[in-house]
Amino acid sequence: MIPVPGFEGRRVAVFGLGRSGITAARALQAGGATPILWDDGEAGRAQAIGEGFTVEDLAAADWSDFAALVLSPGAPLTHPRPHWTVDLARAAGVPVLGDIELFARALAARPKDQRPRVVAITGTNGKSTTTALIGWVLKSAGLAVHVGGNIGVGVLALPEPTPDAVYVIEVSSYQLDLTTTFAPDVAILTNITPDHLDRHGGMDGYVASKRRIFANQGPDSAAIVGVDDAWGQGIESRLNGHVIAVSSSDHSSGPLRNRGAASAEMSGIHAEPGLIRWQGGVLADLTAARSLPGRHNAQNAAFAYATAWALGVTPDAAVAGLLSFPGLAHRMEAVGRLGSVRFINDSKATNADAARQALASYRSVFWIAGGVPKAGGIDDLADLFPRIAKAYLIGDAAPAFAATLADTPHVIARTLDAAVAAAAADAASAGGDQIVLLSPACASFDQFKDFEARGEAFRAAVLALGAVPETAS
Ligand code: ADP
Repeated sequence: MIPVPGFEGRRVAVFGLGRSGITAARALQAGGATPILWDDGEAGRAQAIGEGFTVEDLAAADWSDFAALVLSPGAPLTHPRPHWTVDLARAAGVPVLGDIELFARALAARPKDQRPRVVAITGTNGKSTTTALIGWVLKSAGLAVHVGGNIGVGVLALPEPTPDAVYVIEVSSYQLDLTTTFAPDVAILTNITPDHLDRHGGMDGYVASKRRIFANQGPDSAAIVGVDDAWGQGIESRLNGHVIAVSSSDHSSGPLRNRGAASAEMSGIHAEPGLIRWQGGVLADLTAARSLPGRHNAQNAAFAYATAWALGVTPDAAVAGLLSFPGLAHRMEAVGRLGSVRFINDSKATNADAARQALASYRSVFWIAGGVPKAGGIDDLADLFPRIAKAYLIGDAAPAFAATLADTPHVIARTLDAAVAAAAADAASAGGDQIVLLSPACASFDQFKDFEARGEAFRAAVLALGAVPETAS
């Protein structure tokens, strides 16, 4: 755990007692503060009481005496409307912070030469893959690495800082909204496409929160920006310091530059399937990589390569780490093989843009999709429909997706189990090497607890057919 100093002897309100809230309370207490906890739900309050924390109804509390409100990223700061604790905090002039900000302050309180380095990753898609990949590459290169944040362990639950450590932190837009001084040594924005707009009051608000990852960076830090979308390009063009642009589409190749010094302009990093290029030369050949298929993973590899470079890792060590990355569960994960049919679990694809990356990785797929659709459904994927041998539609989205698919072969399978069975049979009778892909382009909660449960159900259904498990592709 990382003790948070700066609030010694002060009362700090903590709202939202999920994992990150309870961890923040522990970290504040370890730093000498008196956390006062509250949640609308009984379960969180019971856990807090069980741990011996002070639980007090914040609606009835005296806010004049709070040093800060630590808000769960699940509670809205601005939209659709500020959470009631935010209104009370603002009225009393109490700053509203999140766990990433507490982490930033805990590091900043240490003497400069005792501070660990921090790599932070945000973006609409690819955050977890990039975070895990960077963690893997840096660890393989022999660095002392702690991976967490929005993935796995909450940031304040990571081990205490040591000067040689590198924290690799996934950060969501909600968490970024709750930062004021967070200044990562390496900050990465993978991409931006419309998502979570209800919580950010529209696209401008969403882009503004993503941009915050770069807001406090000094001249010695590195900003690594995916520039395939207009929002990434807009952000990249206004950054100072070391900026590394990563492009993967053919038309956008951004620059790598140090605008502070009089260094020559260099061309940006370009990612294409199986390859990372820079200045026309090949930085890394990924064709032998175990788990980095597709253009989007080449892009994630480029982010990791650039991060390793910024932290002084040798190119050989960086490439060795990329090639040995075992991959992440539920993201283009090869879960089994039945004859010449391979089953790919991309349950994490909860929006159409993520499913696009998966569909674009194969020439022909038996595609399982559906669940709770996002705005626009799969309308934007029409250019990829020719790659769909047949679609198997599940959950709430099935009728709408069927209408969008129109002449593209499809069937409403309703459940995941039925979809797996039908897709496996069709793929087998098609003959030759075939892919059955779960990449739902939807949230899961109509039929599953979360995307992990959906992915595990897929794996179980595949293995129940007699498929041989695969540990890495
Ligand atoms: P996040 O943590 O941002 O949700 P993940 O790494 O879990 O991202 O990947 C989510 C989905 O996005 C996966 O389905 C994957 O295929 C897709 N994806 C991964 N990397 C990228 C990328 N660089 N650009 C676009 N989509 C990506």
